[in-house]
Amino acid sequence: MSSPNKPEVAPAANFIRNIVEADLAAGKHAQRRWAGHPGIAADHAAGPLDPAKIRTRFPPEPNGYLHFGHAKSILLNFGLAEAFAGRCHLRFDDTNPEKEEQEYVDSIIDAVHWLGCSWEKGSESNLYYASNYFDWMARFAEYLISAGHAYVDSQSAEEMRVNRGTLTQPGKDSPFRGRSVEENMDLFKGMQAGEFADGTHILRAKIDMSAPNINLRDPAIYRIRHATHHNTGDKWCVYPMYTFAHPIEDALENITHSICTLEFEDQRPFYDWLLERLAEGGLLQRPLPQQIEFSRLNLTYVVLSKRKLIQLVEEKHVDGWDDPRMPTLVGARRRGYSAEGFRLFAERIGVSKNDSLIDYVLFEDAMREVMNESDQRRVAVLDPLKLIIDNYPAGQFEDCSVTNHPLHPELGTRTMPFGRELWIEGEDFQEVPEKGFRRLFPGNKARLKYGYIVECTGCDKDENGKVIAVHCTYLPDTKSGTPGADSVKVKGNLHWVSAAHAYPAEIRLFDRLFAVPAPGARREGDAPELERDFLDDLNPASKTVITAMLEPSLKDARAEERFQFERHGYFVADRVDSRDGQPVFNRAVTLKDSWGKAG
Ligand code: ATP
Ligand code: MG
Repeated sequence: MSSPNKPEVAPAANFIRNIVEADLAAGKHAQRRWAGHPGIAADHAAGPLDPAKIRTRFPPEPNGYLHFGHAKSILLNFGLAEAFAGRCHLRFDDTNPEKEEQEYVDSIIDAVHWLGCSWEKGSESNLYYASNYFDWMARFAEYLISAGHAYVDSQSAEEMRVNRGTLTQPGKDSPFRGRSVEENMDLFKGMQAGEFADGTHILRAKIDMSAPNINLRDPAIYRIRHATHHNTGDKWCVYPMYTFAHPIEDALENITHSICTLEFEDQRPFYDWLLERLAEGGLLQRPLPQQIEFSRLNLTYVVLSKRKLIQLVEEKHVDGWDDPRMPTLVGARRRGYSAEGFRLFAERIGVSKNDSLIDYVLFEDAMREVMNESDQRRVAVLDPLKLIIDNYPAGQFEDCSVTNHPLHPELGTRTMPFGRELWIEGEDFQEVPEKGFRRLFPGNKARLKYGYIVECTGCDKDENGKVIAVHCTYLPDTKSGTPGADSVKVKGNLHWVSAAHAYPAEIRLFDRLFAVPAPGARREGDAPELERDFLDDLNPASKTVITAMLEPSLKDARAEERFQFERHGYFVADRVDSRDGQPVFNRAVTLKDSWGKAG
């Protein structure tokens, strides 16, 4: 049962769930065994039946920070494992020696945890590094050679490219394709022993140079690369290609459903070919993992390509990977977005094979919905204007009782001091009111929320005519929560903080990083030769820093504590720049309706 206020997060049906359910109903994976760790067929055969009904994995390459798209994949994979009594592995796909760094590994672990996902279950901890499988991979490559399924090609890269053919033209066999098993084995051993320079030889699967699917035209599986790997050091000077490594990683880990994005669809025949050959050779346990593709997340006003994100950081268009405007998970966390909001969003957008562009509003709405439910209310004046209550004694203060959460009375109340001088929002006073304005203007009455009704009497201006203070008188019998408080009816309602007690805080108001829905995309009416650069679409007003006046209790906000600032939106105490007793706040998201309705 969900409470009426709780956003619905019922797991929606989707085609991947349907596949899993059908597999479970058919008992497809019921006889698999599990060595307790990744392994080849013989290792698993010696273990008990796999306690996991299914196994999925999230396999990031540790070469960058995770972004919102990865969150979709994480929540999908860990969510399926959770829903079907399975396990989800976190696997670092670190088979490429050049690009990986510990910094990325650490941040990925943090991000997955932050999203509330865990690779641990009972005594099982399914955190793996693909580079730990290099021995197996090399052995498997040798097996393919011995079975006549792989050969060493010594063509130049250019020759190989040309002989690969095109979408309409079949490829041509390499002159080295007929090498004997012995010669191939010799050469591959020599490659491993460091006898050859980078690029001189390459190991290829022997499939079919005229296959309509180019990925089956003898794809490369092992290359020479004299490079130091962050995990295996200088042990290897040959490294597996991604398309060879990935299916093997899945199979060694007993993955049942290997879920990836659509661009890998054309790789599936090779995925299946490779695992089938290795299972035939008795190296892998059956049933083999099944690759399933879904469409990646694309969001309006956001770029999710690693290359573009790197450019934003390196060219300092943002203040680092965790800049709250970045669509990274470190950025999201710092921005104050909630992990639960990501879950709600992921459930709402669902999973499909159709490429679609999701409206950023959907993302923000999911955040708002979750935060509206979870966040306590506080009062903040973002554009402070002094309000002076001329008939309230100077030096006198009294407490007003304020509810912490209108949807959760059990969260109780707190007090806010009230006195003669208050801060109100600049926009809550108009000397000459526009039509429909209901807050303070000379002669009008409005309620100071949680406090008294006041009647505006006028204002003070500086030499430029700018309003610097508003004057009013209060009606002593109208204090909120006291008998008869409602005897005077008013239409306007405004928030305030006591000037003598306010906490002046730095606040960062963030807006979309890009000013257009599809950054860098061509727009209607563009000249044919015009090429747009996504950087030209940056929103120049994506970050505004202000000093706001906050109710005194906010001084004690802990880093990452988030609140709804009434009428303004959801704000989080910045986890990097906040100091004890001096939090700095980031605006995560505005309230849907700010000014018009709130008065
Ligand atoms: P690159 O930008 O270099 O393509 P990547 O974003 O694919 O990198 P990986 O570390 O390879 O980064 O991704 C890990 C997993 O996250 C993969 O399974 C990938 O399919 C998935 N993923 C990446 N981007 C998205 C996205 N926009 N939507 C959904 N899943 C994604
Ligand atoms: Mg990738």
